[in-house]
Amino acid sequence: MIFELSEKGRKGYSLPKNRFGHYELPREMQRAHEAALPECDEMTVVRHYTNLSANNFGVDNGFYPLGSCTMKYNPKINEEMAALPQFQNLHPRQPAHTAKGALALCSLLERSLCALTGLHAFTFKPYAGAHGELTGLMVIDNYHRSRGDLQRRKVVVPDSAHGTNPASAAVCGMEIVEVKSDANGLVSLDDLDRLVKLEGPNIAAMMMTNPNTLGLFEVHIPEIARLIHDCGGLMYYDGANLNPMLGACRPGDMGFDVMHINLHKTFSTPHGGGGPGAGPVGVRKGLEAFFPTVSPYHGNFAVMMRAYAYILSLGREHIKEVGPLAVLNANYIKESLKDVYELPIEGLCCHEFVFDGLKDKSTGVTTMDVAKRLLDYGYHAPTIYFPLLFHESLMIEPTENESKATLDGFIGVMRTIAEEAKTQPDVVKTAPHLTPIGRVDDVLAAKHPVTTYRTLMAEQTKE
Ligand SMILES: *Cc1c(COP(=O)(O)O)cnc(C)c1O
Repeated sequence: MIFELSEKGRKGYSLPKNRFGHYELPREMQRAHEAALPECDEMTVVRHYTNLSANNFGVDNGFYPLGSCTMKYNPKINEEMAALPQFQNLHPRQPAHTAKGALALCSLLERSLCALTGLHAFTFKPYAGAHGELTGLMVIDNYHRSRGDLQRRKVVVPDSAHGTNPASAAVCGMEIVEVKSDANGLVSLDDLDRLVKLEGPNIAAMMMTNPNTLGLFEVHIPEIARLIHDCGGLMYYDGANLNPMLGACRPGDMGFDVMHINLHKTFSTPHGGGGPGAGPVGVRKGLEAFFPTVSPYHGNFAVMMRAYAYILSLGREHIKEVGPLAVLNANYIKESLKDVYELPIEGLCCHEFVFDGLKDKSTGVTTMDVAKRLLDYGYHAPTIYFPLLFHESLMIEPTENESKATLDGFIGVMRTIAEEAKTQPDVVKTAPHLTPIGRVDDVLAAKHPVTTYRTLMAEQTKE
């Protein structure tokens, strides 16, 4: 920690001579004690943070096949565009006629997203995917209330859904009813039919992800949309990972009424470590009157700039290749590894797929062990133990912009680990061996968070 490198009297700055005399803050605005800031010279600070950053793994370091999160490479041209001083130095409260370029960008991006999704209008206010889900559900809630349809408080969510779906419905004050998956990993029409018969007049909406969280294309959307619409509910589409759809099909054409897009995933903004994001919400014609105000101003503008730069740099022609390439890459990995890893659901997947651990269960090597061993080989681990449908879920999403050489490298290492699991399982079970920290206690930080330096120091003196 930078505090540990502090030496009394060290400075990292030199200020010009004060030409303005002495100014004292009013007493009531002064601190009672000096702030406990670390005292370090510039070189110490630079080296400290540069060394820390080198311990981190990001999509710029190597392959990052995290499923359900679309950790794709983010072209650097986007950063250049987002950093243009004409946009970056805008103040949210400056008069609209001095910010016409920014407003034009909002409008152009909205038109692009409408063209890509088949919906009518978008709001850019939400700051993340989950925030978009909440916003979209509020649109749906406002719509039902406007019709005096006040008893519609239930949201149908598939058991394969991303965890934010039921969470957002709960935050919106809705009740969640779960619809089961069938043996093929798709929403069970029988179970949905049963639910609609039971709860029809109370159903506000159904939330769906397509391709779903198993990476499977929900082929029954028209029937599902008909069942939900016939009972008076609306269809919500979780478009967090829209890349497999780009150029292939549009949620608006499938019968969805409201959706969000994670610009930071599908349209490339670096978003490791929790930010920044943007979760614009799109609606079918007629629903735009129900957009709520969930944040001030126009949302996360720099993320919108990156998204627009990304869309323009691909252009109308090449954006059509995004979906097919994402699907091709995922299927290539799946087919190349399914003889050594358990593939619970056969057939074509979309942008991602799930293995249920190693095929040979006799070695005792778990999905956690495989994920940790991958770190030794310089790969970020895939998503593990999600979705909850399988015991040893290992969820892989390569994204569309990795080369065959990179995919082959990953496949080779996954096969090596499967081999090691047989010949030297202990090496895999005790991995990682080459990272700065070995296995950490996964739950300790959540159960017993140490969030400030002071708590850390107190903890250490206690010990
Ligand atoms: C990432 C993701 C979300 C949540 O998006 P955030 O920006 O992290 O809030 C929701 N649904 C799906 C399917 C996702 O992959």
